[in-house]
Amino acid sequence: MNILVCGGAGYIGSHMVKMLGGKGCNVVTFDNLSSGHADAVLSGALVQGCLSDTPALRNLFFQYQFDAVMHFASCIQVGESVHKPAIYYQNNVANTLNLLQVMVEFEVKNFIFSSTAATFGEPQYTPIDEKHPQLPINPYGRSKWLIEQVLPDYDHAYGMKSVCLRYFNAAGANPDGLLGERHEPETHLIPLVLQAASGRRKNITVFGADYDTPDGTCIRDYIHVEDLCEAHWLALQYLRNGGTSQNFNLGNGQGFSVSQVIDTAKAVTGKPIEVTYADRRAGDPARLVADSTAANAILGWKPYLTELSVIVQHAWTWELNTTRFD
Ligand code: UDP
Repeated sequence: MNILVCGGAGYIGSHMVKMLGGKGCNVVTFDNLSSGHADAVLSGALVQGCLSDTPALRNLFFQYQFDAVMHFASCIQVGESVHKPAIYYQNNVANTLNLLQVMVEFEVKNFIFSSTAATFGEPQYTPIDEKHPQLPINPYGRSKWLIEQVLPDYDHAYGMKSVCLRYFNAAGANPDGLLGERHEPETHLIPLVLQAASGRRKNITVFGADYDTPDGTCIRDYIHVEDLCEAHWLALQYLRNGGTSQNFNLGNGQGFSVSQVIDTAKAVTGKPIEVTYADRRAGDPARLVADSTAANAILGWKPYLTELSVIVQHAWTWELNTTRFD
């Protein structure tokens, strides 16, 4: 099976490329390396290019007869999206439409799209299932929601089947320590806490300890990156077996607070972690937890690496490895 992975040099994409290679797929990564890393592509070919470059995409689709496209390439920082929305609409929307256009031209019918819990906006109830209203509150969430909305039209007109996977908080790393999160700048809680443990960062700042939660800090649904990739693999089987276009929420079903993450990191690493407290971060809901019943029922997906200590342990192994990139 020939699979195109756009954004295969990034955090989740690189884990996916490795998994697909291990399953015997012929994988081609297309990535502009703006935030991804060439040395994270551990299987198949890496083609450096931008999704805005239609001739380059046509060449690629001409060269390989892709059975499916997985699309991880996007800008992901909520705060940045508020100040620089044009980048988000250009990259996450216009460039994705460009990719879809070339898929239509080459009659590639299977599309798996990285979407996000940010398409829901402020939760009206938790856990959040697929029926929850989608009212994104920032350009990042809106950019993903826009693509979710056009895909049914591509299905209707061109027969393109798609699965949108809405990630909650992707976390963890390849259990063997070969891959992990390497964002620049890093904004995610678990890698930042572990950088505070390893000494690469002085401390961790907790954004708000006055939320309406048991310990006052925000609750998130941290889902192991390997479990996320497994969901993509199952989504691919689902589409290849004639499944209809669907959207799924992916989380591990339990929430952990910021304080629980820090306490777990202290226990896993055995290191002291200096904690400071700051005001709430704009746009952070108190609690975001996924209801993944549909992914379980329709894709047969079930997360396995659900223990916070396991997620943190794998991310810690990676944090210790990454000193080699400094
Ligand atoms: N957070 C924090 N300090 C940080 C980074 C994040 O307290 O330096 C909190 C953030 O406010 C949120 C949770 O950790 O409640 C997860 O944030 P992250 O940026 O990892 O993911 P998000 O939920 O925004 O997608």
